[in-house]
Amino acid sequence: MTKRMITANLLAWFAEHRRPLPWRGTCQPYQVWIAEIMGQQTQMERVVIYFQRWMAQFPDIRALAAASEQEVFKAWEGLGYYSRARNIRKAAAIILREHGGELPREQAALLALPGIGPYTAAAVCSIAYNQPVPLADANVERVLCRMEDIAAPPKQSAVKKQLLQFCAELLPPDNARDFNQALMELGALVCTPKNPACAVCPLRDGCRALAAGTVSLRPVPASKLEKLDIIMACGIIENQGRVYIQQRLPDDVWGGLWEFPGGRLELGETPEQAAQREITEETEFRVTGLRPFAAVRHQYTRHRVTLHGFFCALADGQAAEPTLHAASQFRWVTLDELERFAFPAGHRQLVAKMRR
Ligand code: SF4
Repeated sequence: MTKRMITANLLAWFAEHRRPLPWRGTCQPYQVWIAEIMGQQTQMERVVIYFQRWMAQFPDIRALAAASEQEVFKAWEGLGYYSRARNIRKAAAIILREHGGELPREQAALLALPGIGPYTAAAVCSIAYNQPVPLADANVERVLCRMEDIAAPPKQSAVKKQLLQFCAELLPPDNARDFNQALMELGALVCTPKNPACAVCPLRDGCRALAAGTVSLRPVPASKLEKLDIIMACGIIENQGRVYIQQRLPDDVWGGLWEFPGGRLELGETPEQAAQREITEETEFRVTGLRPFAAVRHQYTRHRVTLHGFFCALADGQAAEPTLHAASQFRWVTLDELERFAFPAGHRQLVAKMRR
């Protein structure tokens, strides 16, 4: 199968099978940018829901640049990796100030914006501006590793380079927009990680892994890092129908998000003891009546976190004003008001359980 045939077959397949994703209609640069950042390590169904909500709230770069960090965090809540949301907002302000409110067309100018790396810059250049720039997300890497039967992990820099070169050779100079999306779509719908549908694949005649019987071995996985288990505890302090929350320091992990005071267990501590200690260390509140509420679990790229939440109350005579040691500000809020704040995943699960 020649490269020209591979490209033609792929584009014909895409014309028939493409999903009507909301940013595909007009391929507006702002929409492509947001969709690509949201799509990193997030399932497409979730991306579509978040994308539509985001565009209703921040329909253009001007609206995004004018939003507060809390509004942006709240719209992002649940997608994780909050530095992405922070960078999007920072980049919007720069785009407004230095580029007249339009995403730049040049890769170098895009790469100078916070949170935009080579992949996102290539996606904006090719999908939004239809420039012949190759790209390789995880879906594309899988398809091309199988097409070329590459026996090394795609994350290796030499392999990555080889894949981008292969992609550049296939790229039609006048239709990078469809071609790049078609490769991604084929990886998402046909050349899937497990049980790829080779029988209906438009590239099967040129697929070396299919011919060699190595499809299930490609792409070669990168060596896996062991996940670390982390146990944490926090205190949900109640007072006169409200609960206490505090905002994390700006430079902290999840800086700017809200939480209940808490932290990791120290050696030999029970979750209850850790919650009590953390409350004292972070707020200097004296609390009483600690009782277990719920334990929630959440996975991050490198960690598996269990968070134990405990209800408690301010001790008699304790004023409702904390001395903050690990937060920039605090609030006493009702259950309904909790909805307005953005929390990291574990704390958000506790909030959802409380509201139920
Ligand atoms: S033939 Fe199978 S393995 Fe090869 S690209 Fe198509 S779906 Fe992927």
